[in-house]
Amino acid sequence: MTTNERALRAHEYVRAIAPYQGGKPIEEVAREIGLAPESIIKLASNENPLGMPASARAAIARATELGRYPDGNGFELKKALSARYGVPQEWLTLGNGSNDILELAAATALAPGTSAVYAQHSFAVYALATQARGARAIVVPALDYGHDLEAMAAAIAPDTRVVFVANPNNPTGTFIEHERVGAFIPKVPPSVLVVLDEAYNEYLPPELRFDTTAWVRKYPNLLIARTFSKIYGLAGLRVGYGIAQAELTDLLNRVRQPFNVNVLAQVAALAALEDTAFQQQAYELNRRGMQQLVAGFDALGLQTVPSRGNFVLVKVGGADKVYQRLLERGVIVRPVANYGLPEWLRVTIGLPEENARLLEVLPAALAAARSRGRREARADRRRLDRRLGGRGMAR
Ligand code: PMP
Repeated sequence: MTTNERALRAHEYVRAIAPYQGGKPIEEVAREIGLAPESIIKLASNENPLGMPASARAAIARATELGRYPDGNGFELKKALSARYGVPQEWLTLGNGSNDILELAAATALAPGTSAVYAQHSFAVYALATQARGARAIVVPALDYGHDLEAMAAAIAPDTRVVFVANPNNPTGTFIEHERVGAFIPKVPPSVLVVLDEAYNEYLPPELRFDTTAWVRKYPNLLIARTFSKIYGLAGLRVGYGIAQAELTDLLNRVRQPFNVNVLAQVAALAALEDTAFQQQAYELNRRGMQQLVAGFDALGLQTVPSRGNFVLVKVGGADKVYQRLLERGVIVRPVANYGLPEWLRVTIGLPEENARLLEVLPAALAAARSRGRREARADRRRLDRRLGGRGMAR
């Protein structure tokens, strides 16, 4: 038997997937660095620093019957979403996080021989979902770290079946005004699914908000993806939803796992949706935290990309080294080299004291990264010198 025959038969395109890299969990850093978990702060996964709302916690406590399957159609949650957004329940798809909605879109429309269009420096799951279906990725170069919608419309090929647009975008935080998105959608052929990923929509200031469900009414090929992981504070429970016209929603539901959103997630999401006081508190905290961090980075002479999300990109040079030096100081942020941004770190907006802690340790982490960088460069040169058999040749 040859090695090839012994190898498990998997799709080549599945073997070629580079797995998703999440933010490092606090417990893992505690183990690796030898710090107490309580002394570590995590600003790495765009979670809500307030945690889950008390209203959701109370709803979970009331949900005592977990011996039965959840409502596979999520009737109560859909009813509430339908009332909130003024769309029929048949236009709603619930997901195990909005990540699930993105996967359902890919499963519905992509296969080998088709392609998906998305922007450079855009959310990693578009690449994963595309590749997992054996489809080709058409990655459109970013414009000022954000989406170049004109170029994206022009990049659509005859075999394109899906276009992913994140607004605001992760990890760059860039935002496209509704006039431009509204002009883009009709440029996409009606046979191509447009996924408008609005995971951070609720963090937009009032002057930038726009009822994007109006576009769903107009365009049968549009799917909006939203989540309970961010402003609603339920990332650990995994709930998201899609809004699309009935025909598209019906297709998504054919590939959806029947019980993809569990009992606790459904009741917690319903409570969080109705808890507008919590949403307002989280919004304000984020707004002030963003100001605090950006002002702090400015004071250190560090460049940022203006962000409309609950996170911000900051340019620190050799970001992986700075990331390591921050980890040693008990602060977890997110390096984004895998997004083609090796000089940047993505920092999630935390509580005021967490933001302050990052700003406090950052100068020392930057200095340590630079001096270690210089030491490593000297060691590299010495190694190269030795290999070249002389001194001072490898400058
Ligand atoms: N879309 C974007 C743009 C995101 O940043 C994220 C989370 N990082 C998601 C979707 C998925 O989030 P969730 O599955 O928790 O809803």
